[in-house]
Order: sequence, then structure tokens, then C-alpha cells
Amino acid sequence: MRMLLTLLAGISLALAAQEAERMPTPMPILPSKAEVAKVVREAQAWDVHSYAKPKEIRTLHIALDLKADFEKKVLQGTAVLKVKVLDPAANSMTLDTRDLEIQKTDASPDGKAWKTVDHTLAAKDPILGSKLTVSLPKGTHFVRIGYATSPTATGLQWLTPEQTAGKKEPFMFSQSEAVHARSWIPCQDSPGVRVTYSATIRTPKNLRAVMSAVNDPRAKRTGVYRFTMPNAIPSYLMAIAVGDIQFRALGQRTGVYAEPSVLPKAAKELEDTEKMVAATEQLYGPYAWGRYDILVLPPSFPYGGMENPRLTFATPTILAGDKSLVSLIAHELAHSWSGNLVTNATWSDVWLNEGFTTYVERRIVEAVYGRGPEEMQAVLGRQTLQHLLDTLPPADTVLHLVLSGRDPDDSLSEIPYEKGALFLRTLETTYGRKPFDAFLRSYFKHFAFQSVTTADFEGYLQTNLIAKFPAKKAVVPVHAWIHEAGVPNGAAEPRSDAFKKVDEAIAAILKSGNAAALGKATSESYLAVPAPWSTQEWLHFLRGLPADLSLDQMKSLDAAWHLTDIGNAEIAHVWLRLAIQHGYTPADARLRNYLIGIGRRKLIVPLYTELAKTPDGQVRARAIFKEARPGYHPLAQSTIDQVLGLKD
Ligand SMILES: [Zn+2]
Repeated sequence: MRMLLTLLAGISLALAAQEAERMPTPMPILPSKAEVAKVVREAQAWDVHSYAKPKEIRTLHIALDLKADFEKKVLQGTAVLKVKVLDPAANSMTLDTRDLEIQKTDASPDGKAWKTVDHTLAAKDPILGSKLTVSLPKGTHFVRIGYATSPTATGLQWLTPEQTAGKKEPFMFSQSEAVHARSWIPCQDSPGVRVTYSATIRTPKNLRAVMSAVNDPRAKRTGVYRFTMPNAIPSYLMAIAVGDIQFRALGQRTGVYAEPSVLPKAAKELEDTEKMVAATEQLYGPYAWGRYDILVLPPSFPYGGMENPRLTFATPTILAGDKSLVSLIAHELAHSWSGNLVTNATWSDVWLNEGFTTYVERRIVEAVYGRGPEEMQAVLGRQTLQHLLDTLPPADTVLHLVLSGRDPDDSLSEIPYEKGALFLRTLETTYGRKPFDAFLRSYFKHFAFQSVTTADFEGYLQTNLIAKFPAKKAVVPVHAWIHEAGVPNGAAEPRSDAFKKVDEAIAAILKSGNAAALGKATSESYLAVPAPWSTQEWLHFLRGLPADLSLDQMKSLDAAWHLTDIGNAEIAHVWLRLAIQHGYTPADARLRNYLIGIGRRKLIVPLYTELAKTPDGQVRARAIFKEARPGYHPLAQSTIDQVLGLKD
């Protein structure tokens, strides 16, 4: 009650200030219930990470014409924004940009007759970039901006040939989430604004461009590529890549793009993609985006994957050889429903994207690979969540985050993923799988192609699930799950039989006492466990080892399983972290190569963090980073600058 009142007081003041600037329309003394609801809803959807004012003027379509200049490492060209003026008093439009060189701004009533108009580019805010204000004459329906990106654009990475798998051609790719679309497109860069887009992309003739749009798998290499995206999407899903990219079909409507030398391995690893799409449709209704293709990027890609619609971008570190890491594809595919179809309205609502997606990802894994793998992932997720609850400030363990003044990239932990997924799992176990599946299906259908707030979800949940089962009403404390720190009582508790066996193996290994016996016992115990272990079993095993492991014990483990040289990037990550913690020097060379060879933030940041804990480690970390930095994505560079105290 107090919250609502405070909120309303704040909004009427803000509204009054805005109104006073323009129109002398008096505010009604007592707003109707519907008006109050609307104001609350809009205030909750207020995006603190965008300068755009979509309630005054809204972009409907963006047409790009861009040349990829690999010499200068810039995109150069024009963006034409088709706009709808919602507030007749508006005489300018504000757009988000970061490090863009704005060359010219024009306005047009019909997209044919153009008139040059004034613009101002404000000083740069470290999180938001520079506000671009374009003057608009009455009757404007189109705004054209001539611009060039910066070689250090935060949303683009330009790779030299040496940084690719093929070593012959350069490569460029984008990563727009959360607020980086503005570093390559002047736009209303808020997840609450959806646009369709079209693009003409000009590249060197021997390279190929792909986008988060309709891609033609049979496109010839001409140096000019045209794209259309007929579905309205938020700006953080706009994506581009240019390089020596080839295509291989996986199924009727699924396929993989990659550099030629990576393509066969990628196609083998991802061969279940079509099955995954079918399984997800079975669960949550038709796939809404036509084709589902995956682009496997060079190793410097800073994330595991990015759910760019129609074309997931993925790290090559998922190519483990045994499909044990393809749940990442299940995750990105799940976003085709949770995130891309029903989108968080602001970054404070990001759990609506990531929590739902993590839950759906595990349902896909269960449908395609069975309950066993699903349970292992859920248990690992619960371990991750517990670690975060134990280490993060309580305010950062709330699902609906307050992000004013914070960079959405820096404030994004795995809380929205794992706590969100556990919340949905708790709803599923409480209300039953069948009713909960029906609820989710209707949620995706009801809000399809819309951006929604946490309040929208809460309202929908109340009406369409909770109110239908009055007897269970008190069982799941929804408000506490969403708005309070920690995990409420009564949460679902994932369990894994496979992990019980791993725990037994650890106990057996440790019981045998001295280091020599450990080596022997380990090998025997390993044989007693159903072989080969999956990545998840390995992770559970390594995470479960006691903290006071001796160097001899580390050596025995390494001798038994060659962990220092293991090819699987996730297992190597946990092993290398143990190696740093225990001062296990035989892994030093691998650690260096690992950090230079991979740019995925989840895998490298914890290793730098671990190194930075001691003065010697700090020196080593800085030396390695000096070598590795040029190969990292700007996002990874800036995170590690911070970890190593090289930047405030
Ligand atoms: Zn995700």
C-alpha cells in the first residue's frame, strides 16, 4: 500500500513537470482506476537506460544501408527511421547513440523528398552514451541519419584474420544486448520499443554477411546482401556478422553457419537442433520466426550465446564433442518464446527473459535427452544460485531489480536466470505440470510480440493460474520471490541420482588417504562410475572436491585424468580455477593459453578474479591480459580492466 502511494506521488510530479513544459491542460483531480493503472504500468516500464521518449514519437521500422570497412574497422552509411508521432506537441526526437560520428540528419514526410534538419549530440554519459536530438518539422514520418561507427564501438568486434579459425579473412560481429545497439545504429535503444527492419550490407566480395533477419542460406557472395526482418523486435536483438561464413543445413528449417574449418564439427554437435525446435513447439506452441539457424563465431565471442532472432550467435566453446554443452542451444532457442516473443520491457525486468528461458531450456533438455540430464543441470543451477546468495549483496538477489545509475551489463548476475528458473519450477511443482504448461502456453500467446513488465506478469499469473486454484493460494509467496532478497521457503529442490554416484566416487577417493593411494583409487572409482562422465558430472565432481586438497592430490587427479590438457572448455575452466587456488604450477602454461584462446566472459572472468586475489597472481594476470586483451571483445576487455584494477 505504501509503495503504490509513494510511486503514484512520484509519477504525478514527473508528469506534472512534463505537462507544464508544453500544455496547460489541467490534470483531473481524481484519476479513474483505469488511469491510475495506466500510469503505474507506464512508470514501471520507464526505461532508465534510454534517452528515447517513445511515448512522444515511436520508431516503427529501421532501414539500414551500411558498408563494412575492414580497413578502418567502421560501419559507414545511413539509417532511415520510419516514425509515428504520438504527441502532436513534439518537435524533436531523441535517439540513443554511443561513439557514433553523426554526419547528416534529414527529415521527410514520405521517405522521398528530404530536407536537412538540425541535430545536437550531447556529451557522452559513461553508461548511456550520447543523446542525439533531431529537430522535426511538422508532418515528418521519416528521419534519415548519415553516420559512421567508431573502431572501438562497444557493440562490434573487428577480428584480424589471425583471430579467426581460418586465419585468412577478417571477421566482424555485433553484440547488442544490453545497450550496445546504439553503438552501431542510432535508435530508440530500449527493449520496450519494437521495430521491423531492412538492411543493405556492403562487404568485401569474398566475405558474407548474415543478420538477425531472413537469411538466404544459398546467397551468392556478391559483396551486397539484402535483409528483411518482418517481425517487430527490440533493438537489442539487431545483429550482424561478416566473415568467411558457410552454411550447412541441419533440418528443413534449421541450419548452421560457421567458418569452413569449424562447420563439420559444428554440424555434428548441433544435429539435434531440429528435434529441439519440434520439442519446444510441442510444449509451448508454434515457433514464430520461420527458420532457426545458428552462427558459430570465433572464440572471442564474449557470451555463450545470443538469441538473435532467426540466427542464434554461439561460442565455439560449446563444441565439446559429446553434445554435453548443447543445452546452450536449448537456452537460445527457448528465447524464441521467452525474450524474443515476450520481451522484458526494461532491464529491471530481465528475469522475465532469463528466468523463463532457463526454465524452458531445461524442459527442452528433458524432452530431447531425458530427465537425467535435466536434473543434473537443475542441481548445478541450484549450486550456482546458492553461491550467489552467499556472496552477493542481498539487494542484488531480488528478481525485479532497481537499476538506476547502473550499467545493465555489470549488474546482470545469474540471479535472474537461476532464481527465476527456480521460481517457475516451484510454481510447476505446486500447481502441477499440466496446468502450469497450459498457463505458460497462454502467457506466450497472450503477450506475443509485446514487451512486458514484471507487473504485467504478476497480474497475468494472478488471474490465469493462482485465482484458478484458490486452495493453493498461500503456498507460493509470489511477492517475496519477485521483490525480496534470497529464496523463500518451500522452493522446489532439484535432485540428481547421477550426482549421488559422483558424490560416492568423491567419498571413496578421499577415504583412501595418502596421495599415492588417491591416484590409484581415483582411477578405480572412475571405472566404477558409468563412463564416460558427462560435462555436468565432471563439474559436480570438481566442485565437490574439498578445499584443502594437497598439491600431491592435485597431481594424482591430473595424472589419472589429464585434466590440465582436457579439451572441454567448461571442465578445463573449473580445473584451472582449482589450480590457481592451490598454486598447482603444472597448469600454468595451459592457463595462459586458455585465457589467450577464449574470450567468453563466463569462462575467463572468474579465472582473472581468482588470480587477482594474491599479489603474485595479480602480476601474472596482468601479464597474460596484456597479451590476451587485443583478442577480447570490448565487453570482456572492460570487465577485466575492472577486475585487475586497470580502470575505475
Ligand atoms: Zn538467455
